[in-house]
Amino acid sequence: MQVAMIKQSIPFSCPVCGHKTDYPIKRMVEGAIINCPFCKLNLKLHGHMWQDVQREIEKLRGKG
Ligand SMILES: [Zn+2]
Repeated sequence: MQVAMIKQSIPFSCPVCGHKTDYPIKRMVEGAIINCPFCKLNLKLHGHMWQDVQREIEKLRGKG
């Protein structure tokens, strides 16, 4: 029997401190504000960062 593993969050690397944090997919939308718990950076998700995140989300959804 195969059990589908649906991951609800994706790792995102902070561009300032480099720490990886898992963020819920639901929160990862274009223009979303990402808060880094390590360096307290508030980051708006857009441009190539958003494209990278989108690619990760599509990868996860494609497997589902
Ligand atoms: Zn950070």
